[in-house]
Amino acid sequence: NRLSISDPIRTNDILRKYKLRAKKSLGQNFLTSEKVLDDIVDASQLKQDEIAIEIGPGIGALTEKLAQVAEKVFSFEIDESLMPILADTLSDYDNIEVFNQDILKVDLDQFVKDHGIEGKTIKVVANLPYYITTPIMLNLINSDYPFQSLVLMMQKEVAERITATPGHRQYGSLTIGVQTLMETEIARIVGKNSFVPRPKVDSAVVVLKRLDKPYQGINDPKFFNTVIRSSFAQKRKSLTNNLLNWLGKTDESRENIKAVFEKCDIADNARAEQLPIEKFTKLANELQQLVS
Ligand code: SAM
Repeated sequence: NRLSISDPIRTNDILRKYKLRAKKSLGQNFLTSEKVLDDIVDASQLKQDEIAIEIGPGIGALTEKLAQVAEKVFSFEIDESLMPILADTLSDYDNIEVFNQDILKVDLDQFVKDHGIEGKTIKVVANLPYYITTPIMLNLINSDYPFQSLVLMMQKEVAERITATPGHRQYGSLTIGVQTLMETEIARIVGKNSFVPRPKVDSAVVVLKRLDKPYQGINDPKFFNTVIRSSFAQKRKSLTNNLLNWLGKTDESRENIKAVFEKCDIADNARAEQLPIEKFTKLANELQQLVS
């Protein structure tokens, strides 16, 4: 009948008992709000026969909540000094395995095979270390294993870029990189006071669900990604100028771009941040025929 790990009294007891100082360099901010944890677990819709993969358990606040609803929790923590602490705080649960590993070095496809959970519904749920939010998220969504959904807490500013719609300042290559594969939604905003120590920025819980048809309509994802990167290379410039920087400022390029814009019904002075993904799809498919 211990208090939840996230209870501020228990969290402070644990920190004191182990003389633990949160490591800024590893993005250690521990959640001390039971309500936020419950909202994260609710957003994951984890069921009793499903598997949770967690990144960065810290002192185990989210890990224990996941263990209460899922069949099994696999959790990856880079900080070796947290291992004995987690063994203590999570000792009431027999369905948690913690690995002392850098998540960026884990081959998740292989992990899933090695642990006999291939046929299972696997969901990733994590309060991410913010200094590597983007590489972790991109690895997960581009991995061969079809994780059913990802519920990720991250800095609010990145969440806004991921979920942005055309015409907004935050809409860019990250938005499109994620939204060609995943449906995205912000489940809630989380203020700085929900953590110990307090982070510098506000956070948001993002729910990412795999699209039934990833890369819808895109002929060549690699070429598409090159078009996206080039289109957003210099945000203040027009789409035409960004494309010219990539293709070379020749008369031929100018004419090609003009012809393709006409075909795709894109205005001469359009900016990348105004274009919905479908337009980029069309643009990339048409451009590829001309330039390759
Ligand atoms: N889950 C805990 C919570 O919600 O209170 C802690 C979250 S804290 C924001 C991020 C955690 O990720 C820290 O425990 C940190 O040590 C860990 N971490 C940082 N880099 C990591 C990496 N490359 N691989 C795995 N874990 C990492």
